[in-house]
Amino acid sequence: MAVLSIVLPAYNEEQNIANTAMVLDELLTEHEIAYELVFISDGSRDGTFQEIRKAAEANPRVKGAEFSRNFGKEAGIFAGLELAEGDAVIVMDCDLQHPPSVIPEMWKLWRQGAEVVEGIKTSRGKESLGHKLSAGLFYRIMSRLIKMDMNASSDFKLLDRKVVDVLLALPERNTFFRALSFWAGFRTETVQYEVQERQFGQSKWSFWSLMKYAISNATSFSTLPLQMVTVMGVISILFSVVLAIQTLVKFLTGTAVEGFTTVILLILIIGGFLMLSLGVIGHYIARIYEEVKGRPKYIISQVTENVQGDVMGAWKRRPPR
Ligand code: UDP
Ligand code: MG
Repeated sequence: MAVLSIVLPAYNEEQNIANTAMVLDELLTEHEIAYELVFISDGSRDGTFQEIRKAAEANPRVKGAEFSRNFGKEAGIFAGLELAEGDAVIVMDCDLQHPPSVIPEMWKLWRQGAEVVEGIKTSRGKESLGHKLSAGLFYRIMSRLIKMDMNASSDFKLLDRKVVDVLLALPERNTFFRALSFWAGFRTETVQYEVQERQFGQSKWSFWSLMKYAISNATSFSTLPLQMVTVMGVISILFSVVLAIQTLVKFLTGTAVEGFTTVILLILIIGGFLMLSLGVIGHYIARIYEEVKGRPKYIISQVTENVQGDVMGAWKRRPPR
């Protein structure tokens, strides 16, 4: 019988684990879907992993791991994919903002042959204005850069085992899960869902973490900013040709003393462009540096008893001391 794995990255979500495990268990049992739940605690500083342990003791179909520190949601998702053993894997938030009620629909589409089922947001749910604006800006930038409509897409999706194996085989460290499933292709279906209100606790994203996420994802998926440097260079050159002609004309007609304003402006403009360009290039070099170092995406420090064998990352199962 086909098994559905559900991957749930969790960062400081001790209040959510037990409830989420219960809600999913009830739903999937009711729909007679064989399942396993894979909770990944992303270096939580509260009792998230203890809660996962408790849930695993109560229900053998729950398993999980703890990271040695906070590696970010992206790493959590990939660790979950690595631990998941099901024939299809759903990734969703563990705060139940991704409504479990669409899971049976995703499952049905998968049974009918879909290899990727994308969750599409119909509304963003209730969020603070600041969050809405920064998330809006984030998706605007992202959609432009990756040439995919990111506004409605989310990390809530179902992947067939084939697709999971493709994603796990990617050598890159700086991944962007949301866009990678588009990139991978495969037979894709969509389901619509409405973002729910968070069950407990609060959102883990601040304005700056969202901006950092935007920049790092944009650069992991697009080299457009790098090409922008060339474009800016061309614009500066055109601009300087015009000014050069003007300067020469002035010189030849004998009115060349004035023009300090132009000099100052030119220094400022060119200096600004140069610094910005260097920054962009530096950012990409940093990304190359990170990739070349080849460090693992995450380090697992603990797993629940029912996790079999070695888990990828720096962690290896050791006999109990
Ligand atoms: N999350 C994570 N690591 C992080 C930040 C968030 O694993 O560093 C998880 C979090 O526990 C939740 C999901 O990612 O399950 C979405 O986070 P959150 O609800 O804070 O974001 P929002 O729903 O507000 O976009
Ligand atoms: Mg949330």
